[in-house]
Amino acid sequence: MNPLEKENRSLKRTLHVLISKAERNRDVLHTFQEIELRLLSCGNLADLLDMILISLREYFQLDAVNLVLFDPEHAARDLIGEYKPPSGAASLEFTETYAHLRQLYPGKPRTHLGIPSHDTRAFAFPGKPRIMSCALLPLVRQNVIIGSLHLGSNDASRYNKHVATDYINHLSSIVSVCIENCINQETLRRLSIVDMLTKVNNRRAFDQELVREISRSGRNNQPLSCLFVDLDHFKQINDSHGHQTGDRVLSRVAQSIKQKLRQTDFIARYGGEEFAVLLPGCDHDRALAVAESIRQHICGTSFFSEDGVAIPVTLSIGISTCPPQSHDNASLERCARRIVACADKGVYMAKESGRDQVIFVPLSGVEASPEAPEPRSFPLSL
Ligand code: GH3
Ligand code: MG
Ligand code: MG
Repeated sequence: MNPLEKENRSLKRTLHVLISKAERNRDVLHTFQEIELRLLSCGNLADLLDMILISLREYFQLDAVNLVLFDPEHAARDLIGEYKPPSGAASLEFTETYAHLRQLYPGKPRTHLGIPSHDTRAFAFPGKPRIMSCALLPLVRQNVIIGSLHLGSNDASRYNKHVATDYINHLSSIVSVCIENCINQETLRRLSIVDMLTKVNNRRAFDQELVREISRSGRNNQPLSCLFVDLDHFKQINDSHGHQTGDRVLSRVAQSIKQKLRQTDFIARYGGEEFAVLLPGCDHDRALAVAESIRQHICGTSFFSEDGVAIPVTLSIGISTCPPQSHDNASLERCARRIVACADKGVYMAKESGRDQVIFVPLSGVEASPEAPEPRSFPLSL
C-alpha cells in the first residue's frame, strides 16, 4: 500500500468515527427533545411525576431515579395528596431543610456527574447500595433550589466527568419549570374548590359535584343521598370561647365527618357552620345509618377551648334521597334543587324538634325553591 492509499484509508476511518459520533449525538438530541416535549405536555402533577419517575428511567435505561422536593411546609405533599409514587427503582422524597441539598451541591448548584460518595449515595439513592455512578441535577427556579433529581446507574462508567452536561443541564431546567408550573396550576385549582379553613370542598365544588352525581346515579341506576349537617348553637361556642376556638371546632368537625365517609363520598362546607355530604349509591336506610354514626361520633368527641374547657358539640342533620332515574338537563337541575331543599328542610325540622338529631325528608315532601338555600351564617370562604 503506497503512502497516499494509507492516508486515504486513515482519513476514511476518521470520517467513519466522526459520522457515527454525529449519528449518536443526533439520536441523543432526538431522545432529549422527545422527553422534553412529553414533560412540557404533562397537564397535572401526577402525570408529571410519573413521567419523571417512570418514563425517564425507561428512556435512559437507568437503575434508579430519585426525585427530592424541598417542601418545608408540606405544601407539595398536600398537593400531591393520594399520588402513589412507583415502588422499586424510582422514589419520591421530600426534605424540610436545605442541609442535605447543600451537601449535594456545595457552592453554586450545578450538575454533578460521577461516582457517588457513601454519604451522597445514602441521601441521593436511599436503599440502593448498588448505584455506582450518577447524575445529580439541581432543580432551580429564580435562583432558589426547589429540589434535586438523581439519575443512577449500576454501571460505574455510565456517568463520568468526561460526559458532556449540556443536555442534562437543559433537562434539569425543563424539569424545574414543569414542576413549578404543575404545582402552581394545582394550587390554583385547589384554591378554587377547597375551603381554606376546613380543607374540605367548598360550595362551588359541591354545586358542580351534585349535578355530576345525580347524572351518574341515573346512568348507574343507583340512588343518591344528600346530608345537610348544621352545628347546634355554634354561635354560643364563638361567644363563649372566641372565634379562633370556633374555627378549630369547625375544622375538626369537618375532618371527623370526612373520616366517617367512603372515598367515593363527597363532603363540602356549604356555609358558615353547615356542611353538605353526598353519598352515591346510598339509599334512605344506608344514608340514615351514616348520618346517625356521624351524629353520634361528633356528640362523643371531646372538643376543648384553648384553656382546656370542654365544649359539647352536637349536630342537626337533614337527609334526602334521590331515587335512580335518568335526567335531561332541565330535570337534572330540578332534582339538584329538590334534594338540597329537602335535606335543608330536614335540618330545620331537626332544630325545631330539639336539635342533636337526624331527620329524613322524602323528595316528594318539599317543593324546591328556584334558588338553592342560602347558608344561614357567614358567607363562604373559598
Ligand atoms: P342553630 O343551632 O340554630 O344552628 O344555632 P347556631 O348558633 O349554630 O346558628 P346561627 O345561624 O345563629 O349562628 C351561626 C354562627 O356560626 C354565627 C357565626 O358567628 C358562626 N360562624 C359562621 N362561620 C364561621 C367561621 O368561619 N368561623 C367561626 N368561628 N364562626 C363562624
Ligand atoms: Mg348552627
Ligand atoms: Mg347554620
